[in-house]
Amino acid sequence: MANEQNTIELQVVTPEHHVLSEDVDSVEMPGKDGYLGILPGHAPLLTEMGLGILTYRKGSETRSTTVMGGYAEVLPNRVIVLADAAELTEKIDVSRAQAALDRAKANMPGANATEADWDAANAAITRATVRLEAAVKGGTGATATASREMEHAKA
Ligand code: ATP
Repeated sequence: MANEQNTIELQVVTPEHHVLSEDVDSVEMPGKDGYLGILPGHAPLLTEMGLGILTYRKGSETRSTTVMGGYAEVLPNRVIVLADAAELTEKIDVSRAQAALDRAKANMPGANATEADWDAANAAITRATVRLEAAVKGGTGATATASREMEHAKA
């Protein structure tokens, strides 16, 4: 076989942080047009990222990180995500995400707003919602709080 390595070197970086670097068995990540499932040996591709939760499996362990836009390069045994922002699930500050969501909702654009204003407001809401969702999914100590806040966010 041309390629016998059966793991993927996963790297997630942002302009501010090196978020993670791990050898993993599989990756599921939010591309701009939907979630992509990546296994070792995947065909090379370059894709724009959406805003969502990247999940990776290593043995019996599954972990996740948020990914807020950016780009990813997929190679047969390597995935590099250059995200605008990303946080490991366990590092998410739930109170901060809730405050960001409340602020974004309280400051929704008015009648004379431009499309860019709406895009910015929607993006802020999406970032905060993804963070709250990721905190619930990741089962951090803040799970109960985040669950309540998600219900609040959907209301
Ligand atoms: P805020 O208004 O709270 O800053 P934001 O959506 O505007 O939220 P971003 O611009 O996406 O924040 O991110 C700025 C930096 O702060 C990034 O490094 C990001 O990873 C980090 N960050 C933002 N929100 C959180 C959070 N709830 N928990 C942990 N890190 C966060």
